[in-house]
Amino acid sequence: MYKIINFIILIGALAFICHKLNLLDKIFGSRRRDISRQIEDAETAKTQAQELGADIEKAKQKNEERKQQLLKDAEEQAKADSAAIAVSGEEEAKGLLANAEKSEEQLMEQMKNRVSSQTVQRVAQITASVLSRGSFESSKQALNEKFIEQIKELVSAMPSDILNMNELKKLDISIKSAQPLSDEEMQKLTQIICETFISCHNEVDTDVIGGVRMQVGDTVYDGTLAHTLDRLSQDVESNTRQSDEQMKSIAEGIKKQLEKVNGDIDVFQTGEVVTLGDGICRVSGLADVMAGEMLEFKGGLKGMVQDLEKDNVGVVLLGPFGHLQEGDSVRRTGRIIEVPVGESLIGRVVDAMGTPIDGKGPIKNEGFRPVESPAPSVLSRKPVSVPLQTGLKAIDALVPIGRGQRELIIGDRQTGKTAIALDAIINQKGKDVICIYVAIGQKESTVAGVVEKLRSHGAMDYTIVVAATASEPAPMLYIAPYAGAAMGEYFMYKGKDVLVIYDDLSKQAAAYRELSLLLQRPPGREAYPGDVFYLHSRLLERAARLNEESGGGSMTALPIIETQAGDISAYIPTNVISITDGQIFLESDLFHSGVRPAINVGLSVSRVGGAAQLGAMKQVAGRLRVDLAQYRELASFAQFGSDLDKSTRDTLHRGARMTETLKQGQYAPMSAADQVIAIFAVSEGYADDLELDDIARFESELIDYVNRTYPEFSGEVLSGKKLSAEQQAKLKECIENFKKTF
Ligand code: ATP
Ligand code: MG
Repeated sequence: MYKIINFIILIGALAFICHKLNLLDKIFGSRRRDISRQIEDAETAKTQAQELGADIEKAKQKNEERKQQLLKDAEEQAKADSAAIAVSGEEEAKGLLANAEKSEEQLMEQMKNRVSSQTVQRVAQITASVLSRGSFESSKQALNEKFIEQIKELVSAMPSDILNMNELKKLDISIKSAQPLSDEEMQKLTQIICETFISCHNEVDTDVIGGVRMQVGDTVYDGTLAHTLDRLSQDVESNTRQSDEQMKSIAEGIKKQLEKVNGDIDVFQTGEVVTLGDGICRVSGLADVMAGEMLEFKGGLKGMVQDLEKDNVGVVLLGPFGHLQEGDSVRRTGRIIEVPVGESLIGRVVDAMGTPIDGKGPIKNEGFRPVESPAPSVLSRKPVSVPLQTGLKAIDALVPIGRGQRELIIGDRQTGKTAIALDAIINQKGKDVICIYVAIGQKESTVAGVVEKLRSHGAMDYTIVVAATASEPAPMLYIAPYAGAAMGEYFMYKGKDVLVIYDDLSKQAAAYRELSLLLQRPPGREAYPGDVFYLHSRLLERAARLNEESGGGSMTALPIIETQAGDISAYIPTNVISITDGQIFLESDLFHSGVRPAINVGLSVSRVGGAAQLGAMKQVAGRLRVDLAQYRELASFAQFGSDLDKSTRDTLHRGARMTETLKQGQYAPMSAADQVIAIFAVSEGYADDLELDDIARFESELIDYVNRTYPEFSGEVLSGKKLSAEQQAKLKECIENFKKTF
């Protein structure tokens, strides 16, 4: 076994060695091959290296050749470039040179010029001095003549000349000459100027009788006999119209006036009627006229300038204008439209221009006042604090008016508006208040009736009536309230108290609308012109209470406005309501149900009068106002219900008696004390047990009784103090005593 194993191992070892030997042989064989290959490679490398050296030598040579060629090329290129550059530079330089030369030339020229003008100046100076020293009279004279000859064609009125003429009233023409112009030359020049600026010619007219009349533009310088006679006859005519007394002395008057005539020149400006319309006209020519200026037309007709336009003026005609024609001449008066004022107007009836229409002769007025004048300023005013009693219980208690206040009376037609105003006037008797009643657009018969009523109650002794009736042209209606205000202002600024009534301003607004439309002003709301508010505000602002420095007087205004179907929110009513210090609203329904004055106590207010109310009146009226308000509220409900509780019935009972007490007849104003007695008695319940029909009798008898048994009471009320507890007790006792007998 081991033998086998050794054998196997031996064989294995033999095989292994064989294998190894084979491997060695292999290894040595390959090495030998490698070495021989390397030798071969070295051999080829050697030959290659030898070849490379030759190649390098060759390339070196080629490079050298190329370099030489490039250098040559570059040299040639550079040569060409430099030649081109040189050419362009030369051209530029040439241009610059030319420029420089040109500017030098210019400079030279300038220099030359300067030098020459200076030289010329010097030469001129020298010439001038030589000419002025030397004697060249003949050639100078020739120059003068040439000037005069040429100026004829050249001189004309430039716009600036016309402006100067307008503003400076003359045109300065100055003539300068080396030596004085000869008379002949001066005359020639003056003639040329006259012919250019003035056209002056003499016309013979035997109608002027004697003397000369010259008209420059619109201004007339009249020294003719014809004109003097004309003026004289006009004066006489207006005097005749005024009084019979003066008629007797006409002859004397003419004699006197003729004595005065000593050839005085009358200077006035005239224009010409261009178009004529209903109470308005347009006048050309009056370039200097003022707005509001008074103009004189043919036949003594007056006009008021309203619109100033570029080439004409719109004029409203203040009077009958039937005789006026287009082309008639118009004369300026230079005065703003004015009315006569003064004490002598009191008791008179005048038209809107202050001309008497009551047939009682001329008015010897103290002076004139422009119808339009600015309202007193804030600084010259004083608060309203003195009452202006109307004598109507409903007004004095519930809507009291103070002196200087503006209280509107507003209501439909036939509601007693005028009646309230007249009662207020009548009640001013003995109270040192001057009254002015301005009737606007009413029937002449109505105005006559008013005047008659005032006269019969003795109120004309302190009243002026200004009437612009419905038959008069619209401008008279427009101007009448302002005329009335002007008459009132005269007294106010003298420290007196004035009450002015404008009856009524709706008609004035309508008249203003009429003339505005005729003057072609654009219509606005309800076709009234845009400034209709200003129409009334500037009028009512003139009512005031002045402080002591400004005169201390007052003017109370009671404007009246007529509404349509109780519509107080129409245009004119709202305007005037907003201007005034309160309104008394009259209602048709109340008037027809017998409540007269038909004052709607709820809608009527007085914004400043409370401060002026008498203490005692304020005391009783405060209670009255509250009770009446409650009554009105309940009365409207009670109409539907029949089952009322006691307190409601009591309120209604008392309210009905109070309403009855506030009723008052026409032309029966009551004193403040009497009003206090009546209102006090009813509001304290002393009339609760009376029938409504008995109230009026109760009131009048009670007042009589109190005045008899308690005569001091009137003075106590007028003192302005509140009623003390004792006074009230005494009054109550008085009333109770009276009731025992009633
Ligand atoms: P118009 O709109 O016509 O101007 P008006 O509102 O001014 O009217 P008035 O003329 O004052 O009203 O009064 C109308 C009528 O009522 C008159 O006949 C007048 O007598 C009467 N009247 C006015 N107030 C009273 C009054 N308190 N008591 C009795 N009648 C009165
Ligand atoms: Mg009336």
